[in-house]
Amino acid sequence: MEKLIITAAVVGAETMRADNPNLPLTPEELAQATYDCWRAGASVVHLHVRDADGQPTQNPKIFAQTMQLIQERCDIIIQVSTGGAIGMSVEERVQPLQLHPEMASLTTGTVNFGNDVFYNSWPYITHIAKAIKENGVKPELGIFEPSMIETARQLVKQGLLSPPLHCTFALGGNLATARYLAHLVDSLPAGSHWGVAGLGRAELQLAALAIVMGGHVRVGFEDNVYYSRGVLAESNAQLVERVARLAQELQREVATPAEARQILGIPAR
Ligand code: ZN
Repeated sequence: MEKLIITAAVVGAETMRADNPNLPLTPEELAQATYDCWRAGASVVHLHVRDADGQPTQNPKIFAQTMQLIQERCDIIIQVSTGGAIGMSVEERVQPLQLHPEMASLTTGTVNFGNDVFYNSWPYITHIAKAIKENGVKPELGIFEPSMIETARQLVKQGLLSPPLHCTFALGGNLATARYLAHLVDSLPAGSHWGVAGLGRAELQLAALAIVMGGHVRVGFEDNVYYSRGVLAESNAQLVERVARLAQELQREVATPAEARQILGIPAR
């Protein structure tokens, strides 16, 4: 089995201090949280940023500042979000790609988020996929349900994505089962890499499944703010540490950023 890539999703766009007072928000806080996750075993950071009021933004200046602070501290792979936040235009969402990050997320379909809609129409998806390709960035596909894998295949056919794909399954609630995960994995084009981002309580159980199934794992406050039922996590790093510890017990080695670059086909630095 290839080594385990642990991704830290340290802030997201929806989580607020009211959900967990330890949420990092400023560039300095995000860089420190990322560094702590790197020390705990994370090789990728899935990055959103916030403005001075703590609200989600795709402002490239704030991304650039945060990325610089991270790069001064460690060699973690930076994956910028192109999801941004609910209601942002596609032009707004692609802004951080102009910084030529090593990776970026790409969600290949529309999803309901509570009362809101995370809008990813075909024109939006192709616009973002083109911007990812033009800037030489490695995409990580965000997959919420099986039809999004079909959309990814369409992107490959049109030359907007190059295999092998790297897909992360975002699952929560009653869908976070071994059987459903196995179905999703079986639906991927041969040779794809995959990982899980378990939402809420599903974070831990899906991490354990992915470790033994050969997938990769994303954890962090974007997806879950609890350490255990009713107990808030002290930090993103605490969640990463637990995954690294589980992997060690299950005898799956954790990848360094350099090893993760090799697995994902990202040029060495
Ligand atoms: Zn995100």
